Amino acid sequence: MTTRPRLLLAAVAVVLTAASCSDTNDAATTSVSEPQVTAPTTSRATSTTTTAAPPATADAFAGLVVPEAEALGIGDDYFPTLGNPGYDVDHYTLDLVFQPDSITLDGIATIEATATADLVSINLDFTVLEAVQVQVDGEDAEWQSVEEDLVITPSSTIPAGEAFVIDVTYGGEPKQARSGAVPFGIGWQTVNDQNYVVAEPDAAHSWFPNNDHPLDKATYTFRLNVPDGTTAAANGTLVERITDLGREIFVWEMASPMASYLATVVIGDFDIVEDEAASAEAGIPIRHVLPVGKTVADYPGLERTGEMVRFLEEKFGPYPFDTYGIAVVDGFGAALENQTLSLFDSNLAESFFFEDVLVHELAHHWFGNSVSPGAWQDIWLNEGFASYAEWLWIEREASREFLEQEIALERDEFAGAGFPAPGEPPVFELFGPAVYRVGAMTLHALRLTVGDESFFELLTEHATRFANGAARTADFIAVAEEVAGLELDALFDSWLYDRAVPEFPAG
Ligand SMILES: [Zn+2]
Repeated sequence: MTTRPRLLLAAVAVVLTAASCSDTNDAATTSVSEPQVTAPTTSRATSTTTTAAPPATADAFAGLVVPEAEALGIGDDYFPTLGNPGYDVDHYTLDLVFQPDSITLDGIATIEATATADLVSINLDFTVLEAVQVQVDGEDAEWQSVEEDLVITPSSTIPAGEAFVIDVTYGGEPKQARSGAVPFGIGWQTVNDQNYVVAEPDAAHSWFPNNDHPLDKATYTFRLNVPDGTTAAANGTLVERITDLGREIFVWEMASPMASYLATVVIGDFDIVEDEAASAEAGIPIRHVLPVGKTVADYPGLERTGEMVRFLEEKFGPYPFDTYGIAVVDGFGAALENQTLSLFDSNLAESFFFEDVLVHELAHHWFGNSVSPGAWQDIWLNEGFASYAEWLWIEREASREFLEQEIALERDEFAGAGFPAPGEPPVFELFGPAVYRVGAMTLHALRLTVGDESFFELLTEHATRFANGAARTADFIAVAEEVAGLELDALFDSWLYDRAVPEFPAG
């Protein structure tokens, strides 16, 4: 995500963030753990749900209240009820009917999953919209809402290792959801005649039921039914358009694993614009979702997308997905790296720093989207890396000397400014300036310490080793030490966990 491209704006935003979120985040901010290097954590939770609801009885009926049901989580310290244990989702099919006039969303989420523990009950994250019917393997199942979980009790226990399918029929009026991490409503956005989804970090479950944590990625099919003349886009590749009785169904496939927070739809008066020159340069289809009548030429810098893909491939290794592009929307005020379809505010897309932000959101496709954070505390692995990609672009456009001067100035601005350490920001500063800029400085300190050759080799190794998965800070440190052949704990400890911004090592 990019919400604050410049420090001055960033400082103002942080003050506003702190003011607006402090009331609701006391518990979260006091639970931040001490600095520590944890063991690599990339495996999925496997605990059983023995304390959850008992099995259904013969006379059970859908909606039966089972008092023992409780909200569960996948073990994220920052968002204790996000994600759920006991299963691994393989694929989501979201078959949705959207009515722009009434702003209603109705449909079926089909969730294909595999049990990783014996499942007496299954928790999905789900809020804002209402479940109407739940089936497991084609049979009606009991379900109830507990906090932001949908607790489902299948007719019999699902043994560990067994595949199962959940169909949740649901609907209602999609709305913004409140997050402790950002000072504005996220989730479903309706602005003028446009509808789109901004879900990072914790709002994916406000528009479809899912296992809402990057530790459980899955592939997706979106079947978006909208009135004829309206365009409906989503992540991935448009594989089919079906017209039917004044409606049109847009079918999009996201063939690579995707974290739920990166799933999006963009619905309204848009054109799907193919950029053939950029596609040829990037070696993948580049298509954008632009307001009707707009072209690539209306957004100076956008024509360099293919060049940016190739540039970042030189630095980080092959682009991890099979298509790319951006969607330009009104009223967002920021940019977000939704997988293969980064979302840009229309004013941002016409601003002088658009090109830098294009590089930032594209870079997230290596760091954030393919290699996702194993815990939200480690958000610097997304934002520090994407911010560093902006610096690499500046270095290419200007010079290394110019970049060094810029970074030195920025380091001095941050030193003494009292920002939290980027390795353990409070929840309400997950997207604060220190995570972005001091996170990027951490990588620069690493580069100065290990030298350019090892630095780019270790970035590529990290992107490759954890591709289509998740990694924690300790995983990255281990890769860095392995590639560089150096002990680097002290460097990372001081840059990530000390509030005082260190001096750069001599290069
Ligand atoms: Zn970002």
